[in-house]
Amino acid sequence: MSLNIVNNATCTFCGCVCDDIELHADEERIIEAKKACVLGKAWFLNHTAERLYPEALIDGKEATVDEAVEFAAELLDAATTPLVYGMSNITCEAQREAVGLAERLGGVVDSHTSL
Ligand code: SF4
Repeated sequence: MSLNIVNNATCTFCGCVCDDIELHADEERIIEAKKACVLGKAWFLNHTAERLYPEALIDGKEATVDEAVEFAAELLDAATTPLVYGMSNITCEAQREAVGLAERLGGVVDSHTSL
């Protein structure tokens, strides 16, 4: 069994967003998360490394990422007040992109904490 090692992985479990994690994975699971704290280790080790789902879905059917991006762009372009929502487990850079997208669309931003 070969191990896949990923250096400088980002943990998005808490707001610290440590980006120097070394992950070791076999074909199914992440088996080691070096440099992660106890919370980060638990988070990574409970994720599978196997691909359980296709890379993208459109209306529940498998699609390519390019097709899904095109479809999402069409939906967002047709929306009158698009909501960019979530962002709880993503990096600061991804949050910046999400806010920029909302600005370009004339939409609004909200996070899951508003629940
Ligand atoms: S490794 Fe620990 S401190 Fe770092 S982002 Fe993950 S949970 Fe937070």
